[in-house]
Order: sequence, then C-alpha cells, then structure tokens
Amino acid sequence: MGEIIKGKPVADAISEELIQKVEMLKSKSITPKLAIVRVGADPSDLAYERGALKRCEAIGMLAEVKELPVDISQDDFIAELKKINEDKSVNGILTFRPFPKQLDEKVIKYVITPEKDVDCFSPVNVAKVMENDETGFAPCTPSAVMEILKYYKVPMKGKKAVVVGRSMVVGKPVSMLLLNENATVTICHSRTENMPAVCSEADILVVGIGRAKMIDSSYVKEGAVVIDVGINVDENGNMCGDVDTEDCLSKAAMITPVPAGVGSVTTSILAKQTIKACMQQNEI
Ligand code: NAP
Repeated sequence: MGEIIKGKPVADAISEELIQKVEMLKSKSITPKLAIVRVGADPSDLAYERGALKRCEAIGMLAEVKELPVDISQDDFIAELKKINEDKSVNGILTFRPFPKQLDEKVIKYVITPEKDVDCFSPVNVAKVMENDETGFAPCTPSAVMEILKYYKVPMKGKKAVVVGRSMVVGKPVSMLLLNENATVTICHSRTENMPAVCSEADILVVGIGRAKMIDSSYVKEGAVVIDVGINVDENGNMCGDVDTEDCLSKAAMITPVPAGVGSVTTSILAKQTIKACMQQNEI
C-alpha cells in the first residue's frame, strides 16, 4: 500500500526558507514585491490570487493585483504591462492565462520583461529551462513538481520518468526539468500508442492531462512515484486529479493527492521566484 504525499510540508519548508531571505533583504531596506496582472474575474484565477496574496503576506513580502477589464484592447494591455515592467518597486510579474480572445499571447509574451517573468511566460525563460540556465524562471507548476520530488527524496538520476501531457504549462517544462536532473524522460500525449505499457515502465510518473481519474493502476509500475498535476471536477462535483488515487495506491510507492498536492506548492514557488528575481535585480 502506497503513501499519500501532501504538498503542505513542502510548501511550509519553502516558506520557512523564504521568511529568512525576506528578513535579510529587509535588513538592506529591500522588500520583494510581486505584481499579479488579472484580466476579468475568472473564479479559478481569483482562487489562485487569494492563495498567492496570503502566501506573500505570510512570508513578509509585498504583492499587488492589477485588475484589468475583460474587454481591454491589446494596445491598452501592452501599455499596462510595460508600466509594470518599468516599475522599479516590482520584482516579479504573474499574468493569468489564457487571456480573452482579443489579447494575442504570441505577441504579449515578448513584452513581459524576462527578468521579472516569474512564471516563465517569456520565450527567454522557456529557452533558459531548455538550457538548464538557472538564472531563468521555470514555470511554477512544473517547479512545484520538482520541489515535491526533492522534498520526499525521490531519486531521479538515471531513473525512468514518464510525463503524460505535453503542454507548455505542464508537460514540456516538467520533462525538461526532469531531464536536467538526469532522469531518462519519455513524453506521452493524446496520440501515444499503448499508453499503459509506456507508463508502466516509469519509476516516476507525472500526469497533467485534464482527464478526471483516467490514470488507474494499469498505468503504474509496482513501487512507482506518481505525481498528479490534474485539476478536474468529478461526477459528484468534487475536485479530483487525473489519477485514480485509490486504485493506484495498490501499486505506487507514493502519490500526490488532489486537492492538497501539487496545487498547494505553486504559490510558494511563485514567492520563491519573486525573491530570486529581487535578489538578481539587486545583485545580491
Ligand atoms: P492542456 O493544455 O489541455 O494539455 C493537456 C495535455 O494532455 C495535452 O498535451 C494532451 O495531448 C494531453 N492529453 C489529453 N488527453 C489525453 C489522453 N487521453 N491521453 C494522453 N494525453 C492526453 O492542459 P494543461 O494546461 O497542461 O493542464 C493539464 C492538467 O493540469 C489540467 O487538469 C489542469 O487543470 C492542471 N493544471 C494544474 C495546475 C496546478 O497548479 N496543479 C497548474 C496548471 C494546470 P495533445 O497535446 O496530444 O493534445
């Protein structure tokens, strides 16, 4: 019977370290600040925003929200983003995505200052993830996956990792981060043939597909570590992941739950990256 590994202890350990860094920065009269740019009022953005504000406050850093109208034009959005880019009091910027249709992500991603881009929106930071250049900012969710694996001392070097999903938000970056830790990485997607057989090879199975409880024990190798990134709603209206946790526990050594797994670590990563940006900007 496997173990459920929660995100909270990981988030708490990160926060503890960050509190000390913020104290050190404050002693130099510097207070790190995150700016959250939100277009409209999507309920899941609002929920994440509340969590991020609470986390920043607990760590002792500043956070502010720039709320923009849902029908804002591309030019006006870019003008607002440039103002935040230039605001010297802001160290990190998070823009909620996807944007409404009139805003072209392919254009806007080149506008955000890479040095403040704490959730890896800019192609400069995407390239830095590929290059294993630690001056960049990997996206928060894949970074949360890596922090969980490290916290629970899961060996990665030389191990077989299978990632299910190939989005720019989850699958592709987490695959690169696992590769950077010297895992041997396979990426599955909707056209992968015989996925249970491919996944059953994995020592580490990371799933981010958006399909409620699709991954059952037939995808899991005995003793594997399973990280469930999915956020879905099940037939009873409850939040659930992409993994059928109960079924997989018969084979897996460790599984992250949903809720209380990966999602509870991401705001700590956001704070961590903002503090890192602040230190880089101040050459500390
Ligand atoms: P996405 O952009 O829709 O990408 C889904 C990926 O899964 C695609 O690569 C797709 O393959 C693949 N896929 C879909 N159905 C599949 C199937 N039946 N078999 C194999 N692969 C399949 O989604 P996303 O943004 O990456 O998010 C994935 C999940 O993670 C969602 O549940 C989302 O809510 C959650 N999420 C959680 C957090 C967090 O903080 N915990 C953050 C972000 C996202 P193709 O490329 O072939 O279409």
